[in-house]
Amino acid sequence: RMFNELQELKGNIRVYCRIRPFLPRQAAKHTTVEYIGEHGELAIVNPSKQGKDRRRNFKFNKIFGPESTQAEVYSDTQPLIRSVLDGYGMCIIAYGQTGSGKTYTMTGPNGASEEDWGVNYRALNDLYSQNRRDSFLYEIQPNGLAVPDASMHPVTSTSDVLELIGVGLKNRAVGATAMNERSSRSHSVVSIHVRGKDLLSGAALHGNLHLVDLAGSERVDRSEATGDRLKEAQHINKSLSALGDVIFSLAQKNSHVPYRNSKLTQLLQSSLGGQAKTLMFVQLNPDVSSYSETISTLKFAERVS
Ligand code: ADP
Ligand code: MG
Repeated sequence: RMFNELQELKGNIRVYCRIRPFLPRQAAKHTTVEYIGEHGELAIVNPSKQGKDRRRNFKFNKIFGPESTQAEVYSDTQPLIRSVLDGYGMCIIAYGQTGSGKTYTMTGPNGASEEDWGVNYRALNDLYSQNRRDSFLYEIQPNGLAVPDASMHPVTSTSDVLELIGVGLKNRAVGATAMNERSSRSHSVVSIHVRGKDLLSGAALHGNLHLVDLAGSERVDRSEATGDRLKEAQHINKSLSALGDVIFSLAQKNSHVPYRNSKLTQLLQSSLGGQAKTLMFVQLNPDVSSYSETISTLKFAERVS
């Protein structure tokens, strides 16, 4: 069954779109989402435009609408996670503007109950429970890569890892922006290294999983950001476009993949390309006020899928 699930994945890059619901505090509830098809079709409209430019169509491997639950999102992620135990690299990336639901998808809301757990928690739980079920001797630990100030911690349970993710999230740089939201201005990467043994052949297996909650993809207005803030924004944009370039080259099956253009892509290299599987969640805020960011997010997605 597992073999079939993996076979079904066409290529090694999947792009899922998730549209978050309107939040209770959002006043004007005008959506840009006109249509969500059963096979990943999406139509976005700009209500202030008329004529042929009003509507734009996109296509994804899968779309999760505002009603989708964390469990539904994970059920389409789980078959990929399991390949980590088989010794593959895997990268799950959330991309989108600030406030589009990246952290919600990856981690869940603040103080989430089990039902609201995001992909991180569910994936780790799965790695550990699979480990027990099959009595594999897996040892799961974050991968110590050349990241300044990064530390490596041996872990023996899901709760150990969740605690570490919590510490990481607290350390993450956040600041107020003109969007009047707490904006994530840094990438969050959780790297898990899995070592195991094939019980039939005795061969050593080395899998790794990178869980990536990217910094907000929004363009920063030069008139509003200056000094360090502007430099930081330019840095973020540069690393996001480097990531886009890498995934684009992989999708195109180019012989040269430009991993070295950013720290982010160097860090993720073991889980991007080759036999590794990449899953990108493209996150959208449905509100019309986000229309131009939504289109730029969708253009990024279109290029990598
Ligand atoms: P980002 O990490 O992209 O900046 P967040 O994950 O913090 O965005 O989401 C912004 C807000 O929207 C948060 O209050 C979050 O709880 C809420 N939210 C995001 N996605 C969903 C969802 N699918 N269902 C309910 N609330 C959501
Ligand atoms: Mg976030």
